[in-house]
Amino acid sequence: MPKTIQSIRGMHDVLPDESYVWQDFERIVRGLVAMYGYREIRLPTVEPTELFSRSIGEVTDIVEKEMYTFEDRNGDRLTLRPEGTAGCVRSGVQHGFLHNQVQRLWYMGPMFRHERPQKGRYRQFHQFGVESFGVADPDIDAEQIIMTARLWKLLQLDRVRLELNSLGSSQARARYRAVLVDYLNDHRDQLDQDSLRRLESNPLRILDSKNTAMKPVIERAPSLTDHLDNESADHFEQLKLYLDAAGIQYEVNPRLVRGLDYYCKTVFEWVTDKLGAQGTVCAGGRYDGLVEQLGGRATPATGFAMGIERLLALRQAERIEIVRDDPDVYLLLQGESSARAGLTLAEQLRDQNPGLSILSNCGGGSLKSQMKRADKSGASLALILGENEIAEGKVTVKFLREQREQQTINQTELNEFIRNNQV
Ligand code: ATP
Ligand code: MG
Repeated sequence: MPKTIQSIRGMHDVLPDESYVWQDFERIVRGLVAMYGYREIRLPTVEPTELFSRSIGEVTDIVEKEMYTFEDRNGDRLTLRPEGTAGCVRSGVQHGFLHNQVQRLWYMGPMFRHERPQKGRYRQFHQFGVESFGVADPDIDAEQIIMTARLWKLLQLDRVRLELNSLGSSQARARYRAVLVDYLNDHRDQLDQDSLRRLESNPLRILDSKNTAMKPVIERAPSLTDHLDNESADHFEQLKLYLDAAGIQYEVNPRLVRGLDYYCKTVFEWVTDKLGAQGTVCAGGRYDGLVEQLGGRATPATGFAMGIERLLALRQAERIEIVRDDPDVYLLLQGESSARAGLTLAEQLRDQNPGLSILSNCGGGSLKSQMKRADKSGASLALILGENEIAEGKVTVKFLREQREQQTINQTELNEFIRNNQV
């Protein structure tokens, strides 16, 4: 027998028994973005490698070691997108829809990072994200945070915590960087290999280290908050006032920096304690420098991205009930001519009951085996169409999840029966 083929490590199938959970999430997200007037943008999954090395930054985990990069048949260097922002900005610059206007966009889809697979960390995972362009004021930062807070409500998740910080302007960050490097140099003996390497290339990232042994040295490091420029400090104060007015609780975390290099001013993360080490479900902030960095005219921008797998895992951990995509009706067919009559009846029902989901028994089988399938399908109502029923223009109805007498009714009464019984 030929050997079977397995999916790639860290890349998962969403099986038919699980997809309703994804569909429910996607439906909620579509409702959310519509409420705030964000419009969808759909982007290629593969982009030129240079897009990510230029935007995300050469010395980040993503570009250093996580990208799926390859040469295509023409020898062009391509990368499976590890995130959505770079592609969104690339598209905006290419099509000229960023400058001198306000854009509110959203996207959803697969991202790829070659990380060590573990719970909440995959090689193909999915993000929902939004980006806004053209607004420098913190009202839009607030809008996006308020929007995520509403999403938690819609998803029935009430225990995600908001952490907030400001990274300041790039000049202020450069000044802070010098102070931080001095401090870290004085404590070299407490730094791990990764951090020693980053000390030269990207010292801010050291604050983001996941190594618990580094915690003490990080906690005593000089704080970014004390080195903010006036404009960023104002921006941050205003944002906090907006969030206070909206009744959104947050915790200022001066160690919060983003893995991606292009952020400035606002950074935020929504975190849960329920998923172990992979507790960040949403991360976002302001990236006023990126559009220019990718060849467009300077445009202020804000956005966030959330990991859908982590949110679905959280809904499961919180035992949120999600309505399955079971059919409403299962149609059982008995006898020679019933297949044809059944197809016709099912089509009539679909015509007259929009939204009703009907599973027709295909491929024959005894009444007993059809009844087993009906039960397994999750349908609430079985319709039985046999030779007698067909001859008399009738149909037998039987509730599958309730103790009720089965009865035979006229086919002409079926629509009413279905409506009256809220099938
Ligand atoms: P982490 O610190 O967990 O590696 P990150 O800083 O690399 O996260 P972002 O690039 O900000 O993550 O992506 C936004 C969100 O996407 C994360 O908060 C997380 O919910 C999700 N995410 C990131 N990488 C993965 C992954 N490999 N598998 C599943 N979800 C992921
Ligand atoms: Mg990461």
